[in-house]
Amino acid sequence: MIKVYENIDFSRVGHFQSILESRGIKTEIRNEGGSGVAGEVPFTQVYPELWVFSNADEKPAREIIARYRRENPAEPPGPAWTCANCGESVDGEFAECWNCSQPAPEAG
Ligand SMILES: [Zn+2]
Repeated sequence: MIKVYENIDFSRVGHFQSILESRGIKTEIRNEGGSGVAGEVPFTQVYPELWVFSNADEKPAREIIARYRRENPAEPPGPAWTCANCGESVDGEFAECWNCSQPAPEAG
């Protein structure tokens, strides 16, 4: 078993798992419950990890993950938008105006 990827975001680890599995690489996710149960929180933060069963799969798995990350950088927040109601400028990551709660205009 070889660890090829880890990330604090479990959905991302699961995403890479499905990509590798679709290429015929057998994988396993460890520390799935990394966020911990109340009273059992570990001292060191444990991230979900993606492991491959076969040593021979390590290189192709790493290449697939590296290529995917190059082609799909983390999504940047959308551009800032101007509130149609009060005219405030609102950062793209917010879905509604911080000033008057007017929803963001539909992207397009
Ligand atoms: Zn507003």
